[in-house]
Amino acid sequence: MNSENFRKYGYKCVDWIVDYLETVEQYPVRSRVQPGEIRSLIPDQPPSQGESMDTIFSDFQKIILPGMTHWQHPSWFAYFSANNSPPSILAEMLTAGMGAQCMVWETSPSAAELEEQVMEWLRRMLGLPEGMEGVIQDTASTASLVSLLVAREKVTGFKTNAEGLGEQLLVYVSEEAHSSIEKGVKIAGFGRENIRRIPTDDSLAMIPDKLDQAIIADKNSGRKPCCVVATVGTTSSAAIDPLREIGKICHTHGLFLHVDAAYAGTAAILPEKRWIIDGSEYADSFVFNPHKWMLTNFDCSAFFIKDSAALVQTFEIHPEYLKTGVDAVVKNYRDWGIQLGRRFRALKLWFVLRYYGVDGIQNMVREHIHLAELFKDWIEEHPQFELMAPVHLSLVCFRLNGGRDEKALNSLNKELLERINKTGKLLLTHTTLKGKYVLRMAIGARMTRESHVRQAWQIIQDEAGEILG
Ligand SMILES: *Cc1c(COP(=O)(O)O)cnc(C)c1O
Repeated sequence: MNSENFRKYGYKCVDWIVDYLETVEQYPVRSRVQPGEIRSLIPDQPPSQGESMDTIFSDFQKIILPGMTHWQHPSWFAYFSANNSPPSILAEMLTAGMGAQCMVWETSPSAAELEEQVMEWLRRMLGLPEGMEGVIQDTASTASLVSLLVAREKVTGFKTNAEGLGEQLLVYVSEEAHSSIEKGVKIAGFGRENIRRIPTDDSLAMIPDKLDQAIIADKNSGRKPCCVVATVGTTSSAAIDPLREIGKICHTHGLFLHVDAAYAGTAAILPEKRWIIDGSEYADSFVFNPHKWMLTNFDCSAFFIKDSAALVQTFEIHPEYLKTGVDAVVKNYRDWGIQLGRRFRALKLWFVLRYYGVDGIQNMVREHIHLAELFKDWIEEHPQFELMAPVHLSLVCFRLNGGRDEKALNSLNKELLERINKTGKLLLTHTTLKGKYVLRMAIGARMTRESHVRQAWQIIQDEAGEILG
């Protein structure tokens, strides 16, 4: 492609993105295609001759777009959001344009040093303890795996890296912990059977006494506790495990404490919500996702660690071909995680933090929390709806309660969810809490306004009315 055409299609793409985000509300939130439909439209063989950009672009609109679910839709209330923003998109374009592979300092000093600095900005914004150092990982799943590996090495005196796992180590989580922890436990060689799932209280938060009892019982029977993963903002209901009490227990027993705050961590930038990470000085590591609720394009996960020397000792490698003359005085992030090759993710974070400023991000988070509180009030005031978990942040768990037995209620709410989502006007997802089928209203898209939440509530009530007759 010559420069003239590159420029032409570059402008065309930018125009398309701007129009898309301006009109995204017109699409059904969830793609309506059937399994296999998109693939059937794509030829069996790759083209042997190059095709024109006009043809490719037109196929993007004709074939690909109908198979997309629209995460930036203002009526996106599913899962947790993965919100983006114009400054983040622009930075991603520049990143792609420079095409740098930022594995070590020398392969792009700006990438390494900007990452160091923006992670320090984030640490200060959240009020995480001084001395914690940050590194960007692709996802919270990877960050938690990294933590489990560091915990494993610390507890075994770095012998597992050398000799393989010689003994069974235990990992403690709440019953509500994210599935990525179990995945990490499997990958890191702990074995799924060595996860202890600690019961939760009425607010679905880990019960510290139960944790303490489990650790003591395991120790008494000669087992080796290794690590506790606390969740700040569980995926099902945004429950907040009490970090301070859990931290004290970890401290007493000499266990590694990792905090998974993938979604909720962003809320700690609000002074009035800082309590969610009270006790973070006990944490050995902490992760939250700017790619969920901080306007930064997927992927960008912010990982913080207290003992960075142990992290590096867990991952470092010194092949001859990667040695550089400055290794002693710089951070080579290849040794701060699993992958060698690294994207320049700090650039989009820098663009976002500078463009919106701390105030701008705080305002967005506050507004989302305010909208969730409004929605919560409507649920509570309605005789046929029921709130299913405390609302601390921007997630509301609720269900329709038509005075039937539990089993009937589960299928009733399943039907309600499918009806709501079929309208295409909004998207919700579900979970189960203590065995009950529950609908989740997760607010976090950048363009969500009160009108969207009101419209969602109207549709939910209309569909419920249809079901109840
Ligand atoms: C979303 C989420 C994750 C997984 O995040 P990824 O970045 O997609 O790996 C982990 N933990 C919690 C609590 C989450 O909400």
